[in-house]
Amino acid sequence: MWINIYPDHISPYDSCRTLKESKADPAEVKVAVNLLKSLKKRLEEAQPQHTRLDAGFNKASFEDLMKRRFFYGLSNDIYGGVAGLYDLGPMGCALQANLLAQWRRHFVLEEQMLEVEATIMTPEPVLKASGHVDRFTDLMCQDTVTGENYRADHLLEAVLEKLIEAKDTPSELREKARTTIPLVDGLSGDKENLWRVMQEFDVRSPTGNPLSEPVDFNLMFSTSIGPSGNVKGFLRPETAQGIFTNFKRLYEFNNKRLPMAVAQIGKAFRNEIAPRSGLLRVREFTMAEVEHFIDPNDKSHKKFSLVKDVQMNLYAAADQEHARKPTVTTIGEAVASGMVANETIGYYMARIQLFLVSVGMKADRVRFRQHLSTEMAHYATDCWDAECFTSYGWIECVGCADRSAYDLTCHSKATGTELQAQEDIIPPVVKTVTEAVPNKQLVGKAFRKEAKFVNDALAALDSESAAAMGSALETSGKFTLKGTDANDYDITPEMVSVETKEKKFTVRNYTPSVVEPSFGIGTFYPILFIDCNCKQCG
Ligand code: AMP
Repeated sequence: MWINIYPDHISPYDSCRTLKESKADPAEVKVAVNLLKSLKKRLEEAQPQHTRLDAGFNKASFEDLMKRRFFYGLSNDIYGGVAGLYDLGPMGCALQANLLAQWRRHFVLEEQMLEVEATIMTPEPVLKASGHVDRFTDLMCQDTVTGENYRADHLLEAVLEKLIEAKDTPSELREKARTTIPLVDGLSGDKENLWRVMQEFDVRSPTGNPLSEPVDFNLMFSTSIGPSGNVKGFLRPETAQGIFTNFKRLYEFNNKRLPMAVAQIGKAFRNEIAPRSGLLRVREFTMAEVEHFIDPNDKSHKKFSLVKDVQMNLYAAADQEHARKPTVTTIGEAVASGMVANETIGYYMARIQLFLVSVGMKADRVRFRQHLSTEMAHYATDCWDAECFTSYGWIECVGCADRSAYDLTCHSKATGTELQAQEDIIPPVVKTVTEAVPNKQLVGKAFRKEAKFVNDALAALDSESAAAMGSALETSGKFTLKGTDANDYDITPEMVSVETKEKKFTVRNYTPSVVEPSFGIGTFYPILFIDCNCKQCG
């Protein structure tokens, strides 16, 4: 179960290409081509859309067995327990320890990553800057009779599944449900459209009662830190932010070299609206995340050639939108065709697939689903979820996103700390630039405590903006500047001199982009128990 099959895993799939390239015996090539065709066919057959495999499988008795053998159990159940909070028993702990050991081997050791352990308790400004305070929400509907709360997109999904499965659904309605279901993830952050579709399908609460319109519900658990209660904080909803806030130290530790990959394993907390599916969606869970920092102008990966022939099952956004089947292709072809944005995210997708197989999942039951444009964060360049097909249906167990330079930019803006990397320019280049040089005495006098935000904003103006400010000051005698605290400041010509000069550049400063594979370790247990193909599990 724990044998790392990388790189052996590649050979069954790439044999075809290698044989063709080496002009091998046509009979041998034919055998390899037939093998490949049969593998593709098996893959397609294994994945009928939104139907259940293992028809004889009884989810309730399986979960009951897991609980009886104390793989896991509801936390504090002698007091009644709370949904979405589970304890791991001896077998669950052993499985988790094995999974994490393999994760460390596969990612941290094999990729020579830096590992950190940041705190769980996170002050509010960190999560305000990252966007979690304002946007880490799910859409929630309330049963207008009982007051029970539900996740709106889950209710819609359940109704659509029922319509598809029910024998007496009119064929037109079944087809409409079939084409709508792949779009539900894309609607999960789009309040108006989700509500419109819910009304179209007459979605009601599980007890048949009418529902309220969806509202945003923030998933973070808030708390206060210290005895005064004045320092507001949250239990972290992901481990990633603790890596971004340590970027400066890590970059220096790495001798100021990029690319740099940093890993963190630890607990995360999400106040899920209506946790269901046992361990798959819980309120406290272990995450294992990697932040891979790269130059935004060069997203190649030096080890990409090692994985380029890994066969992947890719469910691109366009295929979901047109209710088409996923594409079976190599990650090399997917990156070359532009389906996957760049080599670095492609490299991690292949490594995630190899990890999943190395812990016992069947490759033909893994697919990568690309986020729809409505689902993807506005700053992300590309985002794919690794999903496993189990008796619970398709289960998301890993996210993999190119988050561009969003996170470091946010934390840098919020704190005024430079979170950048440097690259030597060889040979140096000379450019004509326009700069705004503040008269610090006058700025200090005019803005007092806020002077720093003004001086920093003036220093951060690029050549074009500084020139635009210069002409505005000349023509109207006034310019409104956005300070680094995001407030507006009125600048007069005496406060700043705008100078155009020749400047020699020896170093390029840039904010690194980030590619992030993000694992929820708990989602693996039920999948492994059901679908593990190792000898012990049969
Ligand atoms: P996200 O940051 O939402 O992309 O989540 C990353 C991964 O964490 C997902 O792919 C899931 O495997 C896992 N995950 C997210 N939310 C939960 C949850 N409430 N319970 C267990 N695992 C979760």
